Amino acid sequence: MSAAISVEAAVKRYGSLEALGGVDLEVRQGDFFGLLGPNGAGKTTLISALAGLLRLSSGHIRIMGRDVVADYREARRQVGIVPQEIVFDPFFSVREVLKIQSGYFGLRHNDDWIDELLFRLDLSAKADANMRQLSGGMKRRVLVAQALVHRPPVIVLDEPTAGVDVELRQGLWTFVRELNEAGHTIVLTTHYLEEAQSLCNRIAMLKAGRIVALDDTANLLRAVEGLTMKVKVE
Ligand code: ATP
Repeated sequence: MSAAISVEAAVKRYGSLEALGGVDLEVRQGDFFGLLGPNGAGKTTLISALAGLLRLSSGHIRIMGRDVVADYREARRQVGIVPQEIVFDPFFSVREVLKIQSGYFGLRHNDDWIDELLFRLDLSAKADANMRQLSGGMKRRVLVAQALVHRPPVIVLDEPTAGVDVELRQGLWTFVRELNEAGHTIVLTTHYLEEAQSLCNRIAMLKAGRIVALDDTANLLRAVEGLTMKVKVE
């Protein structure tokens, strides 16, 4: 079985700054994978490269076996990205945003799935509201729906709960867990070890553009605990 995502020797340079310094990473199909790291670690850079939104300086990324550069359109079909930044045309309605995204993937008869997504994300009552009339938390849920319109096997969420209240956060995690149980591969970036611990079966830690740890969640936590114990004793 091919990996859901494979990253080989990914380097991204901005002048003298190496945002990614040679990342190798494999996300297996069915994983709920956590990508952890402090501000500036390179998480968004890696996700932008996965989404084909930026070109690596060198290296390769494949999604479900499709190269994101050489086979961009097919690779893009395999993945739904929930970006960190909320950018919408404020005058489109929620439903229009989802129809436009469906159109991008050539899906002309997608209304039943759009209705289901709106229902699952508690947005049915806002379907015809303009984006500018929505709260930040609602906009973030539209981003999730937008990522899912083409039913991608792989779903990547870049800090999806930033600015979302506790109740909505729980609802979103329940939904994402169900997607994982239904067979979708999930990649989540977060700053919070506790969040990754409660959700993910595998975790990679990124620091200054390099993977510094990658393991099953339980093993990784043991290693991190060992590290902090050592630091405390010394
Ligand atoms: P955060 O948790 O704060 O979102 P991150 O792990 O997502 O951080 P990135 O946004 O990937 O980190 O940034 C990695 C590094 O690359 C940072 O040092 C950042 O300043 C730099 N960087 C990102 N985009 C650009 C750009 N367009 N031009 C120059 N430097 C950039």
